[in-house]
Amino acid sequence: LFNFCAGPAALPEAVLQQAQTELLDWQGKGLSVMEMSHRSEEFTSVAETAEQDLRDLLNIPSNYRVLFLQGGASQQFAQIPLNFMPEDGSADYIDTGIWSAKAIEEAARFGHVNVAASAKAHDYFAIPGQNDWQLSDAASYVHYTPNETIGGLEFGWIPEVGDTPLIADMSSTILSRPLDVSKFGMIYAGAQKNIGPSGLVVVIVREDLLGAARASCPTMLDYAVAAKNGSMYNTPPTFGWYLAGLIFKWLKEQGGLEAMERINKVKQQTLYRAIDNSELYSNPINPADRSWMNVPFRLADDRLDKLFLAGAEERGLLNLKGHRSVGGMRASIYNAVTQQAVDALVAYMAEFEKQQG
Ligand code: PLP
Repeated sequence: LFNFCAGPAALPEAVLQQAQTELLDWQGKGLSVMEMSHRSEEFTSVAETAEQDLRDLLNIPSNYRVLFLQGGASQQFAQIPLNFMPEDGSADYIDTGIWSAKAIEEAARFGHVNVAASAKAHDYFAIPGQNDWQLSDAASYVHYTPNETIGGLEFGWIPEVGDTPLIADMSSTILSRPLDVSKFGMIYAGAQKNIGPSGLVVVIVREDLLGAARASCPTMLDYAVAAKNGSMYNTPPTFGWYLAGLIFKWLKEQGGLEAMERINKVKQQTLYRAIDNSELYSNPINPADRSWMNVPFRLADDRLDKLFLAGAEERGLLNLKGHRSVGGMRASIYNAVTQQAVDALVAYMAEFEKQQG
């Protein structure tokens, strides 16, 4: 079976097998990771190793803190203004689709949001060039969504925003290729795509930005508190953290993010080429702004959608239905989705097109 789900998404089989082997008896200790104190020597080593492996993979500079938090990426939409936007403050947001819109809507509950650029003018099919951005001097930070999981729009470049901290929702692109963390004030990512199980969110934040949360910020949402307590102000999501650690090890074994970049580049090229060379399938996104991880496509006649999906399922090609808000199809091809899976999909697409004459 090949799973093209957008999230919770496919995880590497080798990792799931290891987790299964260790489920009842972690490393001969006679108990599951789920049953250990988060303050035990055993779990401390799980937690520290996971952080170090992530640091190695992304080359995270030492002046950044890595936090393993709860509440998914969506909780960050509120947590970010609570920590970085003063009571009467403002922030710049870039609108490139459904996920950036959610971040904007939530931030607007806490202060003034200046939408400095929007892809709306291009029907969300292209990213507005930086020359057209209206950044404001008063902004506490600039927020953007490097990869729009639903629309399939991805930045192939990092915005230049001067001294204003740049904050990025990397939920569906993190670990797909190397990244220069030093360009960012903060990066966050819900785990359920390239990191592990849902509920966990990984935050990478520059140390000097901590400690400025509003007085009204709940303790649990203050990054400085989380950082001071090693992400253990309360009981952390231990099993998710452990599984993320297994994924980071697996990524290192694959050759790190340079290797993932090579693999992911070919995967997305294979799929976009198949779409572009067909009469039946289409993807509307500006080629330079196409997502590597989430590939939406439409059939020329949407009355064929059901038939296409049924045939795909028969062949073990699962979860290709597009997001309910946009329809059509979407193939999410995260790190755990192999070239073999993409080849099987492309072969089925060609077969289906031929059948339709
Ligand atoms: N941001 C992006 C880009 C996403 O793709 C998602 C979920 O798919 C979220 C935020 C929300 O994540 P969560 O469900 O963990 O809150």
